[in-house]
Amino acid sequence: MKAHDGLYIDGAWRPAASRDVIEVVNPADEQVIGSVPAGGAQDVDTAVRAARAALPAWAATPPAERAARLAALRDALVARKDEIAGTVTAELGSPLQFSQAVHAGVPIAVAGSYAELAAAHPFEERVGNSTVLHEPIGVVGAITPWNYPLHQIVAKVAPALAAGCTVVLKPAEDTPLTARLFAEAIHEAGVPAGVFNLVTGLGPVAGQALAEHPGVDLVSFTGSTAVGRRIGAVAGAAVKKVALELGGKSANVILPSADLARAVNVGVANVMSNSGQTCSAWTRMLVHRDRYDEAVELAGTAAAKYGDRIGPVVSARQRARVRGYIDKGVAEGARLVTGGPESPRERGYFVSPTVFADVTPQMTIAQEEIFGPVLSVLRYDDEDDALRIANGTVYGLAGAVWAADEAEAVAFARRMDTGQVDINGGRFNPLAPFGGYKQSGVGRELGTHGLAEYLQTKSLQF
Ligand code: NAD
Repeated sequence: MKAHDGLYIDGAWRPAASRDVIEVVNPADEQVIGSVPAGGAQDVDTAVRAARAALPAWAATPPAERAARLAALRDALVARKDEIAGTVTAELGSPLQFSQAVHAGVPIAVAGSYAELAAAHPFEERVGNSTVLHEPIGVVGAITPWNYPLHQIVAKVAPALAAGCTVVLKPAEDTPLTARLFAEAIHEAGVPAGVFNLVTGLGPVAGQALAEHPGVDLVSFTGSTAVGRRIGAVAGAAVKKVALELGGKSANVILPSADLARAVNVGVANVMSNSGQTCSAWTRMLVHRDRYDEAVELAGTAAAKYGDRIGPVVSARQRARVRGYIDKGVAEGARLVTGGPESPRERGYFVSPTVFADVTPQMTIAQEEIFGPVLSVLRYDDEDDALRIANGTVYGLAGAVWAADEAEAVAFARRMDTGQVDINGGRFNPLAPFGGYKQSGVGRELGTHGLAEYLQTKSLQF
């Protein structure tokens, strides 16, 4: 148990004005592993002032120099890779191998991609008789969730710094230790004082103060749709730009021609990884009625094999929420194929990998985001029926399509109301835009689309 002091503001760790602390719990054994300051409105104000003071010089820093700092940031993250993985495992509970490959590996790739994009991006372009300038939007308030604690931070901070913005980050209260490591890496990378500031704290206190602060020009939020809606309203009232990455209920559409075993096994792995706490997880598997029973059996067998190796969910609260959905699935008439509400271990916030069959599109477990290791398998009659089901939620974040012929899968994907679709499995691409249709969000992260969120345009006519 280590009590961490200070908030990273204006290039140094400084005592928080607030005396409150947040205790960090290891979800695998329920032990308190550390504490951090719970910053308040005064701390947020100090951080925003530092970010504003640092803005003119950073915005005027040549893109090549900003790119050099981002490359140094990537190197500092690489040097801390094992420490990052160990910290994410300790505060989120994910298996160490997954933490190394994904929780540490992906942010390193994203930081690297922005080091390159910052150097190459056309911040000025000529359009007819005009020069169009793409200028930093200003001070960014970044609010992030716990499920991919470092990735969510880097996916906001790296493009913001590439654009010439300065940032105040309020990370999730469940995973603040990873955010502190990130601040150390920023410091080591030689990012000038005030360009990046970290205020750990509670959502309704520090998060809300940041979203409401008049010195913030853009609020970039990733988290639940409920909180996103509030942040959108606050930003709207102040005519402040907002980017929202919210929840999902993504469909994994297995067309009749697909390799069923592969589609089901990859689909189950997708849902179970990170204990189902992935906003883009393919939590609804759609299978043609002729192959439905076979798919359900394959899914049940695949899920049961994971046992408790997927790790716990992040907190007792999250476990209670997931169990509530499992109970609701049973109560509404879905058939439990494997798993269920009982914990596979006495200690730790574990939930068994769970598969439901005979799920109909209107059931709660087919409509609402569960954010746990729970898969619903639905049957469809034909392609139009599959499309209706796939598009039949308020969300539209991600999805997958499987078919023997890639063109057939792509034709189906074009008709889906969703921001990202994996074709026959897909592969992560740090340059591809990520973000939601419908209530899954506003704006895009990653690649040049993610960079554009932090820029505003000015045209000069000649
Ligand atoms: P959450 O909305 O409760 O919290 C997210 C962040 O917002 C945290 O930092 C929290 O402290 C802060 N917050 C909470 N209340 C606030 C308020 N009133 N004002 C300002 N900030 C506030 O979500 P969570 O439980 O941390 O994360 C899970 C949710 O995030 C899921 O719904 C998931 O789908 C979504 N998510 C979406 C994406 C995406 O990219 N679309 C990625 C990860 C997670």
